Amino acid sequence: MADPQTHDLARAGRYSIRYGDDVIAFALRLQPQRQPSKLAVHVEPDGRVLVDAPEGVSQAIVMAAVRKRASWIVRHVTDARARLAHVRPRDYTSGEAVHYLGRRYKLRVTVDPAAAASCRLRGIFLEVTVRQRSAQAVRDAMAVWYRQRAREVLRDRMDVVARGLRWVQAPPPMRLQWMRVQWGSCSPGGRITLHPALVQAPRECIDYVLLHELVHLLHHNHSPAFYQTMDRHMPRWPAVKLKLDGLAEQALRS
Ligand SMILES: [Zn+2]
Repeated sequence: MADPQTHDLARAGRYSIRYGDDVIAFALRLQPQRQPSKLAVHVEPDGRVLVDAPEGVSQAIVMAAVRKRASWIVRHVTDARARLAHVRPRDYTSGEAVHYLGRRYKLRVTVDPAAAASCRLRGIFLEVTVRQRSAQAVRDAMAVWYRQRAREVLRDRMDVVARGLRWVQAPPPMRLQWMRVQWGSCSPGGRITLHPALVQAPRECIDYVLLHELVHLLHHNHSPAFYQTMDRHMPRWPAVKLKLDGLAEQALRS
């Protein structure tokens, strides 16, 4: 027999609701440490909708919360898609703009069947050597390079940012992973995962992401206390976040 208290329990996963002519599709994430009454809706820079809810929430409550914010969600998703529409897909050929630590460089591709694939910065150029002319080969060589740079730069910045935070005894374990919708995340166990493409962003944006994840070691949610701590350590973080959101569409997709 279904328990009336639990038969409507929401499960993490994908849901959708109709709103006028729109369908709002969203991913529900359940967070045991979240306050029972608190439910948060986010629209990511690429237009995905994420809902964070406490474990044990009913599906009816989740749906009602999304419905209540539906017009806000649709407006933000529309904005995000409009921004994406202006981003041309890369074709990884010479002359294209690429970014590293917030600076703009020009891609220069050399095809050399005898050489090993390589990638390096030289002056205003990111020089990529590949064995055959293919966007995939250039993309792969760049991904290897970005990951190497990310490992070094993000570890350095992590040490600097963590040093100023009294609740961080030592910089937490960190790993790099290509993610579709986010720059960083912090597991309940305290491991921080970062997107290697973060090294394309200016240093203050990198520091903002690191600080955000490090503050999660103290507050495992986006509560007012979380934002108070952010304000204390980086008063201008909202402006930095805006700048980073503007970079997200080119960086997270490449
Ligand atoms: Zn967060």
